[in-house]
Amino acid sequence: MQKIREYLKNKTFLKYLLYSIYIVITTGVLFSLLSNPSIRGFFTSIENKTFDARQSILSPYKKVSKNIAILAVDDESYEYFLDKYGEWPISRNIYADMITYLENQGVGAAAFDLMFVKSLKSSSNDDKKLADTIAKYDNVFTAINFDNQSFDLRKPADLPQYLKAHIKNDSDINLKNEYTYFKNCRTIIPQIMNSTPNIGHINLMRDEDGIARDLHPFVSYKDDFYPHLALKVVMKYLEQNEGLKIKDFKIDKSGNLLLGERKIPLNGKGSVILNWYGPSGINTNTTFEYVPMWKVEKSIYEGKKLIPDNYFKNKIVYIGTSATSLFDLKNVPTDKIFPGVEIHTTFINNVLDNNFIKRVSPAADIILSLLLSLFVGLIVVRSESTILSSLVAILTVVIYLIAATVLMYYFNIWVGIIIQVASVIFVFIACYLAKYIMKSRDLEYTYALATTDGLTELYNHRYFQEQMLQNIETGKRYEKPFSLIMIDIDFFKKFNDTYGHQSGDAVLRQVAQILKKNVRSSDIVCRYGGEEMSIILTNTNNNDAMTTAEKICKAVSAHPLKLVNGNDVNVTISLGVATYPQNGQTPQEMIKYADDCLYIAKENGRNQVGKK
Ligand code: GH3
Ligand code: MG
Ligand code: MG
Repeated sequence: MQKIREYLKNKTFLKYLLYSIYIVITTGVLFSLLSNPSIRGFFTSIENKTFDARQSILSPYKKVSKNIAILAVDDESYEYFLDKYGEWPISRNIYADMITYLENQGVGAAAFDLMFVKSLKSSSNDDKKLADTIAKYDNVFTAINFDNQSFDLRKPADLPQYLKAHIKNDSDINLKNEYTYFKNCRTIIPQIMNSTPNIGHINLMRDEDGIARDLHPFVSYKDDFYPHLALKVVMKYLEQNEGLKIKDFKIDKSGNLLLGERKIPLNGKGSVILNWYGPSGINTNTTFEYVPMWKVEKSIYEGKKLIPDNYFKNKIVYIGTSATSLFDLKNVPTDKIFPGVEIHTTFINNVLDNNFIKRVSPAADIILSLLLSLFVGLIVVRSESTILSSLVAILTVVIYLIAATVLMYYFNIWVGIIIQVASVIFVFIACYLAKYIMKSRDLEYTYALATTDGLTELYNHRYFQEQMLQNIETGKRYEKPFSLIMIDIDFFKKFNDTYGHQSGDAVLRQVAQILKKNVRSSDIVCRYGGEEMSIILTNTNNNDAMTTAEKICKAVSAHPLKLVNGNDVNVTISLGVATYPQNGQTPQEMIKYADDCLYIAKENGRNQVGKK
């Protein structure tokens, strides 16, 4: 490990390559966590919230088309109708008259986000009048809704051929999927169903958190597809204004629904992600223009001029409810109470502006995550300052958030945020950990260097002195003895002269190993200097120390040692022992006593433990 580190110190490029691989692996770990569906679901739900946040920030800067108006049963109109007619819904006769009123003004298209189902309250005369009026114009549209009611409740109706959409799908998007398929259908009155092809579905698409972010251009029912009401309406508008006539729908290889020049990007669910306006117009009127329905009613039946002449001329007019008591209010990214009718107009406006949101591919998200975390990871690795690298990491995230928002505003692109930020945080922590571990290992290494003798790998003289002091201190406090053995190799000068210094060094190393093997792990074996070594025997009285010294003496003399030329040779040592407290109270006194004994051993013929 140490060698690798030393090597890498000189190879900066290699070092950063290794770090990069480490970061890629770390991010890989994060992404493999994401293969778990519940973890992915969790991330997706947060990602959706970041979409909502971006949409909320951007919506005040978006402008809606002045060619779209909503003729709304708002709170005022609802109360007005209840007061005047004593009931809700109002007679279908009134809707018929409204169509005529709008047509007389030259309306572009009129669409009912209302379902004309069989009703006890409605007379068959009124139904017929409404059906006839709708059929009279090719620019009036109404709604149908699909559901998954049990077949015991009602039989799924057969729908007229002319309501079915013909789609040439060149993409690999499956348009008949769990989000778009419905097994049953709520039919509307046959008078209307059988007299106009201008009927579209109004099924709402909600994400798991109940928020509507996208819209299905098509739903599937039985073996056919049915277009959304808003899709039909906007196609009529494009036909009138741009001469675009589409008989069969086309979806290109990349999953775009083609409307002439316009490309509507479908996602994997077969839906389009809407580019939201808002907040809602109920109180604030910041989105589409609202005309309260009571004004139209009074204009028709009381001859009042509450709406400017030709106000509706060439406009797409959506007729729906926005009154809170009628509950057609949805939760969308920009608003919690967003009238359902505005979801349709939002789609239409998106088609006109060709600005649907496109979610980037998972691969693009992964690449972005990798780049960001690589950048932040390398900054952490490089930078000496924790504060600086933390600041850079935070700044990177902030800049990315801004960039993601700008990208959505100018290019209608939805790049992921949560995965990217998560991987940056993940890698930031991982790199800090790695750096911290490396640093603490370096410290260990430096400490070892400072206390070890390079030749013998025994503790060095400085450490020996420190330990002597410490042992005397503990000995004093706990009144415990400890011993010191001083060792000197016999005739070593001569040995060097005979076999050379290199063999001398080799023998020093081998003697050191023999010493280590013959004492307890708690004992401290040091190189005192030259060919002299010392051992501190912690918690050891004089008797035991003498025994150990004898044992060591025998072990060294008995052990053949290798010369550099491979031959074996034997050396002997002389030893002296001192024990605290009886032989000395300070390191100097102890060393002196042991040295004296060592001298006696030399005097008495060497290869022995000297005694005073
Ligand atoms: P004595 O039995 O009286 O101890 O005889 P001696 O020759 O060992 O005498 P002394 O202790 O005075 O000599 C020490 C010698 O050890 C001197 C030097 O050549 C040798 N020596 C000291 N340090 C090293 C070392 O790191 N490597 C080698 N090869 N020799 C060393
Ligand atoms: Mg010596
Ligand atoms: Mg010697």
